[in-house]
Amino acid sequence: MRKLCTMLAALFFLLFPIGHIVAQSPAAVTLVRAGHLLDPKTGNVLSPAAVLIEKGKIKEVGSPTQLQAHAPGATTIDLGTATLLPGLIDSHTHLLIDIIVPPEAEIARHSNGEFAPGLLLAIVESPTKRELLGAQLAREDLESGFTTVRNLGHSGVDGDAALRDAINAGRVPGPRILASGRKLMALGSYIQGLNPAVAQAIMQQEFLPIDGTDRARDAVRQNVFYNVDLIKVTVGEDISPRELIAVVEEAHHQHLKVAVHAIDAASIQTAVEAGVDSIEHGNKVTNEQLKQMRDKGIFLDMTPTFYGSFFMKITEPSLVMSPSFHSSNAASDARAQKHYDDLVARVLKSGVKFAAGSDMCWFYPGKTRGQASAATFVNLRDAGMPPLDVIRAITVNAAEMLGWQDRIGSVEPGKFADLVAVAGDPIANISELERVRFVMKDGQVVRNDLASH
Ligand SMILES: [Zn+2]
Repeated sequence: MRKLCTMLAALFFLLFPIGHIVAQSPAAVTLVRAGHLLDPKTGNVLSPAAVLIEKGKIKEVGSPTQLQAHAPGATTIDLGTATLLPGLIDSHTHLLIDIIVPPEAEIARHSNGEFAPGLLLAIVESPTKRELLGAQLAREDLESGFTTVRNLGHSGVDGDAALRDAINAGRVPGPRILASGRKLMALGSYIQGLNPAVAQAIMQQEFLPIDGTDRARDAVRQNVFYNVDLIKVTVGEDISPRELIAVVEEAHHQHLKVAVHAIDAASIQTAVEAGVDSIEHGNKVTNEQLKQMRDKGIFLDMTPTFYGSFFMKITEPSLVMSPSFHSSNAASDARAQKHYDDLVARVLKSGVKFAAGSDMCWFYPGKTRGQASAATFVNLRDAGMPPLDVIRAITVNAAEMLGWQDRIGSVEPGKFADLVAVAGDPIANISELERVRFVMKDGQVVRNDLASH
């Protein structure tokens, strides 16, 4: 009999290991207190501040004494003089790709339209390898304060959806992920010059081609089969307004938003007229188009990646460049910077709704993926955006663009307990966002470098 009990006990612990149970059920009530809490919506700062958390959600926000009285038994996390903010949102990223810029000769020999051959090398990787890379980059994003990200393509057939599910199931750490599955695009707009024997197979791993309105609708349904959260389309001259309208109709019918990569004015016009939900990059948007977007409620998702000599920063540590290659890269960095200064000023003036995404898909020597992504948002300040607007772009505005304004983006009762804290004042010095010291997702502490006693 005793033997049977021991066996049953052993079986019980095998099925329900203690550590697992503890990890799944955090302390019933947690009180996080800090010197300040910044509300990105209003710009108001509450000092001192406390957030009461129950079952992974925010229950109450107020002064520490008030909240302490409401929950005397709460486990307290004291962040000292730090400033609390809602968890950060990167609304445009690529977790399953980490392009290493190849040497000059390789670029010349295997040029692929606007992309360096590094993209080619990345997409022919084994999907399993890419998934594990995605797990690493997701963890790095979370550690830098990104508690939610939107993955917009380059993740194989179902890589981002699988990563999202693994994170949600607690198998690997990472942010909340909105997965877009395969990118919809016209044949030939990204990758050229592949070996014909394998070209189709490689393309099918990465993209869903649009060729006529029927195929456009079918592409949306294919992604739905893999349980995506939204649809990503690359629009250039080779996609007709009718095809894009078909995509938008089918996606909206499936309750999915449509994010469109559009750079030049003609592509942006196609996207605006098709009634998409967000325009990604939008670098060459005209003032008239900004006005149309504002009137239609279309978001501009800004990607200030190539600002602040970005290309030189990621290439100089590891690439030997000829003087002419060096100077042409430096000149293109300078052009990108000048262009962005102008764009930021026009966007702010237009009143269009905007968010920001890192578009990080590059290997950045010396930085984790999270650090590299955070650095791009600071670029917006350098391009003339007020710090509060930068913070809004990656919190409350981004949440609205994602359609998740009832879940994330601000520190309010009923929302997920996704919080970050920085040591200094992020309004006085926006680069504090590059040094997030405390991260909480779902009421669980991911990192805490601040004094807690
Ligand atoms: Zn992108």
